[in-house]
Amino acid sequence: MKKTLIHSGLVVTKDFIGKYDIAVVGEHIQALKLPGEFSPADFDEVIDATGLHVMPGLVEPHVHFDAPFMGGKTDHDMLTGTKACAYGGITSVISFSNQSKGTSLIQNVKDWDDHNRGRAYVDWSMHGLIYDASERSISEIPELVKMGVPTYKCFTTYRHSGRLMDDDSMLQVLQKTAESGGMLMVHCEHDATCEYLTNKAIAQGHKEWIYHAVTRPAIAENMAIQRVVDLMKTVKAPAYIVHASTADSVRIVSEAQADGLPIHAETCTHYMMLTEDMLKGENGYLWICSPPLRKSHDLERLWNAANLGPIEVVSSDDAGLPSKMRKDLSEGCFNKVPNGMPGVEPRLTLLYTEGVMKKQIDLQKLVALTSTNPAKLFGLKNKGTLQPGADADICLFDPEIAWTMTASTLHMNTDFCPFEGKKVFGKAKTLLCRGEVVLRDYELSGSPSHGRRVFRKLED
Ligand SMILES: [Zn+2]
Repeated sequence: MKKTLIHSGLVVTKDFIGKYDIAVVGEHIQALKLPGEFSPADFDEVIDATGLHVMPGLVEPHVHFDAPFMGGKTDHDMLTGTKACAYGGITSVISFSNQSKGTSLIQNVKDWDDHNRGRAYVDWSMHGLIYDASERSISEIPELVKMGVPTYKCFTTYRHSGRLMDDDSMLQVLQKTAESGGMLMVHCEHDATCEYLTNKAIAQGHKEWIYHAVTRPAIAENMAIQRVVDLMKTVKAPAYIVHASTADSVRIVSEAQADGLPIHAETCTHYMMLTEDMLKGENGYLWICSPPLRKSHDLERLWNAANLGPIEVVSSDDAGLPSKMRKDLSEGCFNKVPNGMPGVEPRLTLLYTEGVMKKQIDLQKLVALTSTNPAKLFGLKNKGTLQPGADADICLFDPEIAWTMTASTLHMNTDFCPFEGKKVFGKAKTLLCRGEVVLRDYELSGSPSHGRRVFRKLED
C-alpha cells in the first residue's frame, strides 16, 4: 500500500488546530504526529504542506447533478460536477436521484447508480427526491434507507408542477422516516402565498426580475418551516431544512430545537453573500433561485447562525443552467426563469474570504460547516474528519493566494459565475480522496474511475 506523508501543515479540524504531520497508508489516515516525528524515508511520497491549512476534504451535501429540466439538464453531470468538486476541495458530494411522477424511488436510485459508476473524480452519494408522494413512494422509504439512501427531499411548493407535498403526505412520510432511520429534507416556501403574490404581480403587469423576490417573500419561507415544525410535533422524526435563507428561519429552527425536536438546518453560500439587489439589473434573471436572495439583515443573521447555531451546514445548492436557455425560457418574465445557480466549486474560497478573513467564523467553524457536520448529519462514516482510521480525504488549502473569481477562472461547466469579478483569497492546492491525489498544485490530477459511491447510514 502506498504511504504518503503530509508534513508541516497547520492541521485544522472541528475539534483541534495545530501543526502536525499526517501519515496516510493506502486509503486511510494512519496517524498524526508532531512535525519531524515521522521519518520521510519511510514514505513513498512526501507532500510539503508548509504554509497550508490541512483540513478534512469537504463534504457537499446539496447539488443537482444531471437534473432533468425541460428537455435539458443542469450544467453539471457527475463527471463535470465532480471535477469542479476536486477544484473546490470537495471529496464527497451528495446529489439527488430524480423522481418523475409515477416512478419508483428504488428504481430511480438504481438507475442513477448505474448511470454514474465510473464517472466521478471524488466520492459520491445520493438523496432520494420525492416528487410523487404516492402510497408506493411512501412504502418504499424503508428499503431506500437500507440501500444507503437514508435522506430524501420533498417540497412545500411548486404545486403547479406537481411537486408539492401536502400535510397529509408529509405526516405519513415523517412516520415512515421515524420507523426506518431516515431523515426528511424539506424545501420550505408556502405555496399559496407565493402563488397569490405571483398572480397579483402578473395581473398588475409586472415582469421585472425583482418580482421573483417580491412574490416569494421571507414570510412564505418562515410559514413553511413553522408548518414542518408543527407537523413534527405530531410525528417526531428527523428533518433537515434545506437552504434556510431568512433571519426568522433560524429563530424558528432554534426554538424547535429547544423544544427537543430533531430538526437541522443548512444555508447556502449565495444566501450569505448576495442580496436581492442582484435581481434589479438587466441580467437579474441570472441570480434567480428559490428561495430568492434576501436582504442584508438576513445575511447578517445567517452568518451569526452559522457561527453560533442553529445553522449546521453551508452547501452550494449547485443547479445552474446555460444563461441563454434561462433567458429564452423566461420570455422576459420573472416567474418563468428556471431557478438555480452554479456554485459547487467556489464554496470553500468564498467562506474563507467572507467568513474567516472577515472574522465572522473561525477556521474550525469553517471545517465544521463544510465537512464534519454534513458528514455526521448525512451518515458519511469515515468522512469529514482527520482521525486515524478515517478515509484519507484531505484538503491542503492555500490561504495566501489572491485571485479574481470569474466563470473562466473557475472550472465549473457553466458560463455564469454568481460572484463574477469578486476578489477572493484562498484556494484548494492539493486534494487527496481516499489517499489518491486528485488535485495537485491547483490542477486536476485524478481520474473519473476513482470516485466511489458511499452507502450512508445515519447515526441513531
Ligand atoms: Zn436544491
